[in-house]
Amino acid sequence: MDMHRYSQETEALAQSMMRIALDRLRMDAPLDGPVDAQELGRRAGQTITPSGLGGEQALRVWTDVLAPATMSVDHPRYLAFIPGAPTEVATLFDLVLSVSSLYGGSWLESSGAVYAENQALRWIADLVGMPAAAGGCFVQGGTVGNLSALVAARYGMRERLGAALPPRLRAAVTDQTHSSVVYALRDVMDVDPLFVQVDERGRMTGPALREALVREGADGVFAAVATSGTTNLGVVDDLAGIAEVCREYGLWFHVDGAYGGAALAAPSVRHLFTGIEHADSFIVDPHKWLFGPFDCCALVYRDPEVARRAHTQHAGYLDAINDAGEWNPSDYGVHLSRRARGLPFWFSLAMHGSDSYRDAIESTLQVARRGADEIRSRPYLELLVEPDLTVLTFKRVGWTAEDYAAWTQRLLDQGYAFVTPTTHNGEPCTRFAIINPRTTVSDLTGILATMS
Ligand SMILES: *Cc1c(COP(=O)(O)O)cnc(C)c1O
Repeated sequence: MDMHRYSQETEALAQSMMRIALDRLRMDAPLDGPVDAQELGRRAGQTITPSGLGGEQALRVWTDVLAPATMSVDHPRYLAFIPGAPTEVATLFDLVLSVSSLYGGSWLESSGAVYAENQALRWIADLVGMPAAAGGCFVQGGTVGNLSALVAARYGMRERLGAALPPRLRAAVTDQTHSSVVYALRDVMDVDPLFVQVDERGRMTGPALREALVREGADGVFAAVATSGTTNLGVVDDLAGIAEVCREYGLWFHVDGAYGGAALAAPSVRHLFTGIEHADSFIVDPHKWLFGPFDCCALVYRDPEVARRAHTQHAGYLDAINDAGEWNPSDYGVHLSRRARGLPFWFSLAMHGSDSYRDAIESTLQVARRGADEIRSRPYLELLVEPDLTVLTFKRVGWTAEDYAAWTQRLLDQGYAFVTPTTHNGEPCTRFAIINPRTTVSDLTGILATMS
């Protein structure tokens, strides 16, 4: 059978798949949960065979066995890690992107797609307050976004110092900085993290950064990584103070807003981000609180030229792209071939307008504030940090790590909610990460009731 010919079987499968897509949008999807590999083996059997299962059978394995073993991150009571909550049209446009077979790495091959992505990036750069020359690209996620920004930062220092570059380089972080940053520095880039002491709410401050630079010496320190919305506590670092110290010491100022950067669009908390306009690079994940599907991180640079020099790959077969002098997304991150993954986010933003984004983000902030009140009002619970954004970190008085683990499992087994344990100052606790506009206060109180 010719796999590339549009046949009657393809047509029938297209109908089935479109029905699956529409049903998923129309109905509330169950939370679902993991199934152990042996059990999946029993239910799904061997799926790769010399002659193939045929479309109908392969699709049945997916719908009946595999799909129920994959969680719906947009379930309103999925509050673990950082959930996702793509808009209907972002999801739908992802289907259009998929059938378009487009290569999103270069202007030559994808000028239309890159134009649209760049407009979405411009919206983000404007929220940050970056100059007109700012720009970047969409990468896979916050991990690759942070890595790409830090590689550009180091490249800038190399260009500046040349032979005078110290043998060991460092970048300032805290123990609340996302794991991906320390991983990028230490394991990928072979750079040492310089740990800055956090304040009582878990924030990096300008004075603490200066203190660390004085104490440990600033030699070889090329960047400071601030977080605008930490993953565990949802707090925003002292961006203005950090920006000032970065200017003083000539450090690249990177802001990781993978989760919380979306709140730049929310007037009620915009003041927390004062100072972000000085960022040399910034990331935010549309697949988190900007309602895009996985996997998508927006990465913007104040001076994209240094990023381009850092990231452009060189080879004879790439000359046609590199010599054209156009805006090639592949030049701004750790990637070459890329899906135009910013397009589903762009389409939804273009269709609904930025006011709808502002309102949806404000509504999740409102639910989180009321959730914090509900936690405060229950004597058996303790809110551990006053929230800046929409992460509520709290403990159940008297519970051990085992109690949290058993509770997580119980809620998951019931298909009711997905809430995972974490730690704060070495103590077991849990957290709600609220980014889904469909999550209600009664979703939160329903879960709190299971802890009494
Ligand atoms: C989620 C997150 C990341 C990592 O992003 P991925 O998209 O999972 O790679 C980095 N930083 C922060 C603050 C995050 O919340």
